[in-house]
Amino acid sequence: MNEVSRTGHGKDRMLSINDLPGGVGVYELGDEIIAIYLSRGLSKLLAYTPKEFHNYNELDLLDSVHEKERKRIKAVFQKLKRSHKELDVVFRLERKEDRFIRLLGRYSRHHGQFPVYCLVASDVSEAHQNALALERQNTRLQFAFSHSTLEMWEYHLEDDRLVPLSRTILGGHAPLEISNPAAFLLEEGYIHPDFSVTLNHDFTQLQAGNEPDSILFVRSAAGSFRWLRLSYAFLSDGEQERRRAIGIFQDVHDEIAMRQQVLGEDKAFFGGFNLDSGKAVLADNRVWKMMDGCDDFYTMYDSVMQKAIPKDYLAVFQEIDSSEKLKHFVEAGKKELAIEAKMMHPLHREDGYRWVRFHFNVSIANNITIGYIAIKDIEKSKVQEQALEKQAHSDSLTGVYNRSSLEELVTRYLIDGGNSAFFLIDIDRFKMINDTFGHDLGDRVLKRMASLMRMVFPQGTIIGRLGGDEFVAFIPHMTEAVKSAGDEFCHRIAEDRTLGILFTCSLGCCISPEDGTTFSELYQHADLALYHSKNHGRNQCTHYVPEMGMHKTLCWTNHEWMLDNFPDTVCLIDLQNYDLLFLNKTGK
Ligand code: GH3
Ligand code: MG
Repeated sequence: MNEVSRTGHGKDRMLSINDLPGGVGVYELGDEIIAIYLSRGLSKLLAYTPKEFHNYNELDLLDSVHEKERKRIKAVFQKLKRSHKELDVVFRLERKEDRFIRLLGRYSRHHGQFPVYCLVASDVSEAHQNALALERQNTRLQFAFSHSTLEMWEYHLEDDRLVPLSRTILGGHAPLEISNPAAFLLEEGYIHPDFSVTLNHDFTQLQAGNEPDSILFVRSAAGSFRWLRLSYAFLSDGEQERRRAIGIFQDVHDEIAMRQQVLGEDKAFFGGFNLDSGKAVLADNRVWKMMDGCDDFYTMYDSVMQKAIPKDYLAVFQEIDSSEKLKHFVEAGKKELAIEAKMMHPLHREDGYRWVRFHFNVSIANNITIGYIAIKDIEKSKVQEQALEKQAHSDSLTGVYNRSSLEELVTRYLIDGGNSAFFLIDIDRFKMINDTFGHDLGDRVLKRMASLMRMVFPQGTIIGRLGGDEFVAFIPHMTEAVKSAGDEFCHRIAEDRTLGILFTCSLGCCISPEDGTTFSELYQHADLALYHSKNHGRNQCTHYVPEMGMHKTLCWTNHEWMLDNFPDTVCLIDLQNYDLLFLNKTGK
């Protein structure tokens, strides 16, 4: 009592101490631990009756300690007798088993041969129960971890420390505790160096109280690398939230390796993003470099769409050319899109626009929607392919389209509709040129025809050779000028001296949709017009008029009548395919 009443205002001070929620006491540490002073608060904490409180100097403090803990607490007090150190113990009460009392004590003086200690007591039952629960939880977790096939580690935020929880973790070679884990894992080669940014990013996220979730390239026991997904969850430590996090590894090797394989050597970009949060899930250092300090996928996506795609190819990306459209695409339940287009690699602008295969794919795993973007550089193969395609589609002598691709291309334009012009061109008396000057010069005449066609007809004209000395010029968009293009071409040919000989050509022309809407209709009508040119002195262009067809039909009908009445058999055979075109009545 003296200890506390010596200073201050005596009684008031004592009263206030008595009213404290905890309690104080002054104890002599003899064979028994007897109070010299005891506050009412401490008496309450120790569950004394009022009568006992009045006779506290007859009670041994150790009697209040739970029977099972008495020996331990007695030993603690024994030690104090010699050391005079400060006391800090927690014990369970004998009379109230669920209550835990914490005693803090400080040496005061000696009373005879025994030390006297001032003690402060508080009820720590809540905290102690929590601690016990936590310990039990820990024991259970440890047990679960040691029997699980999952690989896990525990990260302690306060001291930036990793504790592997499963035996197999990191191939079973990892130390029991890893300090400064990001640096350790990279230096020891446990994580592939291409993922250094992701690894550091994950630990920074943990330190900030976030739960990262990322796919890493991790070295296995065998020394090869495997794709593992590492997700973190914080453990609740009572009042101290977010102090420890458990990292759980999940093997996603097969899935990611398959996606990677498609990219092969020409990988330009490969990344996976959480489409809900916009955070990177799978990102090597190149992807991070592209993110350029920005942690949001959608921002990066918009910037790439705006800066990396040439105008001519924007239409190809139409469905997903902004982050908003990409979100709609996913919300509509669509899962995949592959695009071949030209694009600029954001990290290698010096390479200019290159052909790429852009592949977007949505995958849902553990309730998280991940969007994978894979970009493969296909410049080399595309250029080869285009060269081959050109070869397959062009006439080997003149380089213009061959018959089949000409027909295909013209048909494609005709389906789209619009006004177009069709010119059929045939060299005049070409047989004679061959016969007089030789086949080689004949070939050069054919080549010269093709190059003059390219020069005279407007840009965008589809030029092809149907075979022999017959060419087509198809102008997809009619203008007034196109109508005179045939005459102009005749003049250019007639005046051409390049080969040292003079030659001319005849043209037949018709327009779509008026004169026909299919390749064969246009060809037939242009042929009638050409026939007219040839019959009217050659070296001219004739525009088709419907009467030409009627005239031919009339002539043919009359011919038919005449031939049918002919006494001998008359037949007409197509010498190219030996089809029987006509057989007169006598023959039949
Ligand atoms: P026309 O004014 O009525 O057209 O008379 P033409 O002599 O030009 O008659 P036609 O158009 O039927 O002649 C086509 C000739 O083209 C027949 C063939 O000998 C020749 N020819 C076909 N292909 C080639 C080729 O690849 N090279 C050369 N030099 N001649 C070819
Ligand atoms: Mg000819």
